[in-house]
Amino acid sequence: SPSVGVLALQGGVAEHERMLAALGAQAVPVRRPAELDGLDALVIPGGESSVLDRLLDVVGLREPLTEAIGGGLPTLGTCAGLVLLARRIDNPAPGQRSLGILDIAVRRNAFGRQVDSVETVATWSGAGDGRPGSLRAAAIRAPEVTAWGEGVKVAATMTVATSDGGRREAVVGVRQGAVIGISLHSELTGDPTAHRALLAAVTSPPSQLPGDLHRAGPT
Ligand code: GLN
Repeated sequence: SPSVGVLALQGGVAEHERMLAALGAQAVPVRRPAELDGLDALVIPGGESSVLDRLLDVVGLREPLTEAIGGGLPTLGTCAGLVLLARRIDNPAPGQRSLGILDIAVRRNAFGRQVDSVETVATWSGAGDGRPGSLRAAAIRAPEVTAWGEGVKVAATMTVATSDGGRREAVVGVRQGAVIGISLHSELTGDPTAHRALLAAVTSPPSQLPGDLHRAGPT
């Protein structure tokens, strides 16, 4: 069974470990650089991205993590994990950096009270495993993907209300090669879709996988 590291510095680690175990993978907590050795894939959980960012330096994981993911390790970042993977943060906390792996910009805490901690159903394009459908997940101070480069596919969108009473589609999931990022917490609702996509990226070359939404981006 594939060995999947879960960055275990802060945030919702146990729920990801449970989900991975349910899908037949072996979850391995990662707190030190040596624990990246021999992994088939990696999950970066939610939490608080500015805290995660600082902890990476404390434990010396910033460079090893960047090298491992940049070198092709299939990775799923959720919520704060997505923020950490982004190239640009529109509204960083003071001094906050990110790994710059996904060619996207994100806005932290993008959805305000209206979908704060609320369970939602996003549209899932099937990025990573060719199974389009939906993603049932919790939005907890979720980030929005506000721009994305040419190599980035939109993997999930969510309908949100606008201040003038209208509606719009917000991008809440992306994939770039073997790296998947989602704004939402599907590990809390038990929806295996995103984790399945991660495990599929371990065995299938992501470039050959169908099912992406075609969007105009960058915005
Ligand atoms: N908004 C938080 C951040 O920027 C993420 C919240 C979460 O992971 N649930 O880190």
